[in-house]
Amino acid sequence: MERTENLADIVAVVCRDMQAHLGLGRVADYIPALARVDPRHFGIAVVTCDGRTACAGDADVPFSIQSISKVFTLTLALDRLGAPLWNRVGHEPSGSSFNSIVQLEREKGIPRNPLINAGALVVTDVVLAGRDPAAAIAEIAAFMQARADDPAVSVDPEVAGSEEQTGFRNASLANFLRAFENLQNPVTDVLEVYFNQCALRMSCRQLARAGLFLAHGGIDPRNDAKVTTPVRARRINAVMMTCGHYDASGDFAFRVGLPGKSGVGGGILAIAPHRAAIAVWSPGLNASGNSLVGVLALERLAALTRWSVF
Ligand code: GLN
Repeated sequence: MERTENLADIVAVVCRDMQAHLGLGRVADYIPALARVDPRHFGIAVVTCDGRTACAGDADVPFSIQSISKVFTLTLALDRLGAPLWNRVGHEPSGSSFNSIVQLEREKGIPRNPLINAGALVVTDVVLAGRDPAAAIAEIAAFMQARADDPAVSVDPEVAGSEEQTGFRNASLANFLRAFENLQNPVTDVLEVYFNQCALRMSCRQLARAGLFLAHGGIDPRNDAKVTTPVRARRINAVMMTCGHYDASGDFAFRVGLPGKSGVGGGILAIAPHRAAIAVWSPGLNASGNSLVGVLALERLAALTRWSVF
């Protein structure tokens, strides 16, 4: 039996319990604009398929969603290309870090999954096809505004610029992919779109709303908009569960038991299928690059709601 009669109380308990942990972990500093964020932030928002919203802490403070954007570009790319996308990117966990390059050579330029950087670059290449970078960035931003039901969602140009200046690893991955003919657009264009999608600024409330279609078979329960098909929604959730926290995806499944996607900005989007979308944010990261307090909060929330899928 689940116990969510009083979701607001549960969310308040989670937020209260996290206060003792605030500041744990290390803020991502390889992107200089992210290094300045105060590690003591914590926010949580839960939006349910039956129309409830419960928020606590810094739920309305925008942060850099970073790799969480990969879930949404994957949705767009599947809409463009359908199942053949899986010929260009796999759906297996990588067992390595988000920006690892080693596997890519062994596996001849086919990234393990769309949620590591190499795979996300292929996905971005698909979203970019037939457009210029500015149009693709505008399209991704418009998609996020529509999903979040908030026109205030936008790209932070300072974060995008900061990553562009320091993104040598991503540039290496993109060049490597291009050498294997798994990027069709110019490397600089793909990187431009990728850095801008990662630099989207959203609050927990906006992000939880934006992810709700994944909890509801691809349909936004607020307005019945068909965002993706039920099969694709199921596949995106499966990939989030197995790959969304990189080499710590097993640990996340073990502790939380929900499909989830983290970003180095400290955000995590988690999906409780048929129930709710949850966003948490706390900037301090663990060794795998996932929000340390964010994972703790989701672990606590899943225990209190009994929302684990297992
Ligand atoms: N923009 C970041 C990068 O490419 C995203 C990584 C992440 O959030 N895990 O390095």
